[in-house]
Amino acid sequence: MKIVIAKNSGFCYGVKRALRLARETGKKNNHRVFTWGELIHNPEVISELERQGIKVANSLSQLKAGDIVIIRSHGVSPDIYRALKRKRVKLIDATCPIVKKIQQAVEKLSRKSGEIIIVGNRNHPEIQGLLGYSRGKALVIENEDQAKTLPYKKKRTVLAQSTQDGQLFSKVVAALVEKTSELTVYNTICESTRVRQESTAELARQVEALIIIGGRNSSNTNKLYQISRRLLPRTYFIESPEEITPEMLQGVTRIGLSGGASTPPEVIKKTVTAINNSFKQNSHQEKVTHD
Ligand code: SF4
Repeated sequence: MKIVIAKNSGFCYGVKRALRLARETGKKNNHRVFTWGELIHNPEVISELERQGIKVANSLSQLKAGDIVIIRSHGVSPDIYRALKRKRVKLIDATCPIVKKIQQAVEKLSRKSGEIIIVGNRNHPEIQGLLGYSRGKALVIENEDQAKTLPYKKKRTVLAQSTQDGQLFSKVVAALVEKTSELTVYNTICESTRVRQESTAELARQVEALIIIGGRNSSNTNKLYQISRRLLPRTYFIESPEEITPEMLQGVTRIGLSGGASTPPEVIKKTVTAINNSFKQNSHQEKVTHD
């Protein structure tokens, strides 16, 4: 039995940076420290931050002047930013620089003519932030079918949520080409997402089953699941190693493991141990390799 971990699994640059900023802020300050929403989709990391005195704020009413508020890697809309400023809190902006660039691009486009299409998940905080920069000129499209129902337009620009599935984005662009005479395409899927998706797809072609580990409400982890599932029906999505079942491993001699951008390295290690233990219980022999 071999367990193969996908290359580029686990924390991305933006998440690592946000976590570092949060931990440094927690250590240095005597003020109350909050993150604006959960910093990452992982309960263990949220508990660890809470132990360091960093709480999660989900509404302005939780905050008072002098508090420190960390903006997470997804960023926020200008409205939220201004509302936080009005509260007279000190802001630590951990918006991923890549997301910041997309925000700036949307803001620039909003001052020009033509519709802006953002391919992403409407309820995701990154998209909520981007919509705020679009001055009401952006439309969120989640899939190819929705793009096909759009009316014909002379001018459009299309861009993607930073963690979008590359294949889905290409399909939406192809559908928009049919509906627009002048279409400008910005592929804003970040490099970290692209390589993670490619590594997971590559691994899905080499193993008999593949386990995706990460937060259920993590957009990029869900995308990894969909990408692997298209290639390998025996793809499983778990949030913690305790969810491994003997059925997932039954008859498998080579199993893959991939984690999302907010999956801590310790969780990946614990999942390897859980798979090994499950096999040991079933008197199998395992070997762990990194592909
Ligand atoms: S997935 Fe990409 S854009 Fe999003 S936080 Fe990570 S590095 Fe930044």
